[in-house]
Amino acid sequence: MEFQTVSQVPEYDGKVIKLRGWVYRHRASKTIAFVVLRDVTGTVQCTVKGDLLPKADELRIESAIELEGKVHKDERAPGGYEITVTGLDVVHLAERFPITKDQSTQWLREQRHLWLRSQKMTAILKVRSAVFGAIHDYFRGKGYYEFHSPMFTPCMAEGGSTLFTVDYYGKPIFLAQTWQLYAEAAIFGLEKIYTIAPSFRSEKSRTSRHLTEYWHAEVETAWQGFDALQEQGEELVAFICQAVAKKCAKELEELEQDPKKIAKIKAPFPRITYDEAIKILKKDGMSIAPGKDLRTLEEEKLMEHYELPLIVTRYPKAVKAFYMREDPEDPSKVLAYDMLVPRVGEIIGASERETSIDELERKLREEGEDTSTYEWYLDTRKYGSVQHSGFGLGVERVIQWLCGLDSIQDAIGFPRTPDRTTP
Ligand code: ATP
Ligand code: MN
Repeated sequence: MEFQTVSQVPEYDGKVIKLRGWVYRHRASKTIAFVVLRDVTGTVQCTVKGDLLPKADELRIESAIELEGKVHKDERAPGGYEITVTGLDVVHLAERFPITKDQSTQWLREQRHLWLRSQKMTAILKVRSAVFGAIHDYFRGKGYYEFHSPMFTPCMAEGGSTLFTVDYYGKPIFLAQTWQLYAEAAIFGLEKIYTIAPSFRSEKSRTSRHLTEYWHAEVETAWQGFDALQEQGEELVAFICQAVAKKCAKELEELEQDPKKIAKIKAPFPRITYDEAIKILKKDGMSIAPGKDLRTLEEEKLMEHYELPLIVTRYPKAVKAFYMREDPEDPSKVLAYDMLVPRVGEIIGASERETSIDELERKLREEGEDTSTYEWYLDTRKYGSVQHSGFGLGVERVIQWLCGLDSIQDAIGFPRTPDRTTP
């Protein structure tokens, strides 16, 4: 007889089932033991009596077990079913499990390799898997090719201050902050491309929404302008919400999030300009120095006015990356937008790309870059240059938002931050 899963228990009412998993909870008296078994699909209460009692008695939390037993309805049992065990094998008797109730977040992060088994982390990681799946489905459904860029790169793209430098055979090289520049070369063959890959940023400040290594979903599209770019960002985020609400309703509920509310997140999203955002913030009593980027604090304040994701367009040129196209209506702005969500802030950074070589060179020099390192990139504007645009979405930020997490560190299995490189 094959093993079933805990999720199949209701189908086996009155019948014999075989399960395997780990001891989630355990309580024994002289005449009966209650063992709650956990597998990837959930937990179920099992009762052990008679000859098997000594075996059940010595079990410890997280011991690996295989059991056989009869399923019956029991209103008192969590989940509504209970199993009367008729066979029990201890596959591995666990040592005393170090994680118990009421331990600090910090300690649980140090024990992440064990904490991954918790119901909370399991629920989050299932949502995470659904988010990755949805991103692939969305782009592939639209005829996009998956394209990969190198992680070792000689160029900066998002500004020099967050670059990690590594020793590459005695010479310095950077870890990629984005696939962006390489993607702009690749669209001349593939036209519509996307990726999901790690990006590395040596963040200087410690916040609840920055990792030093995060997964970045990026897209680049030839012949696409700024309006279509906004629609694409909305569509992708709405698509992810639909997919997660459908596939992970149970997990979202475990995380105290409402799947029905998430299912209602549909395009179009509200849109305002950067200048309008500044006006709203001023009314709220926040003053932003002219032409400055919005910080976490300001994004959070702004998002108190919105329930849906918000698109903020046309940022000042000075705060955005060198490759963004100047706004034809206002040379102090760029055709860029950020998508913000409540509590988390920015999830997408998007722009139409500059096509003028002169402008690109000028901005690179302004940032103190040696343009000869970018010669290959500037070549992309010499041979059949066309309008193109794209964006980057921080996958952990989306997971943090959908799962209602206080910290981005819980949106990934093994987080990397300025203070954390283990386990
Ligand atoms: P922020 O202002 O929040 O630092 P950014 O403007 O540096 O973000 P972009 O360079 O536009 O971000 O990167 C694209 C997306 O990648 C962001 O919208 C965000 O969702 C995500 N992102 C950026 N930096 C990080 C990070 N350190 N950890 C996790 N996600 C990040
Ligand atoms: Mn940043």
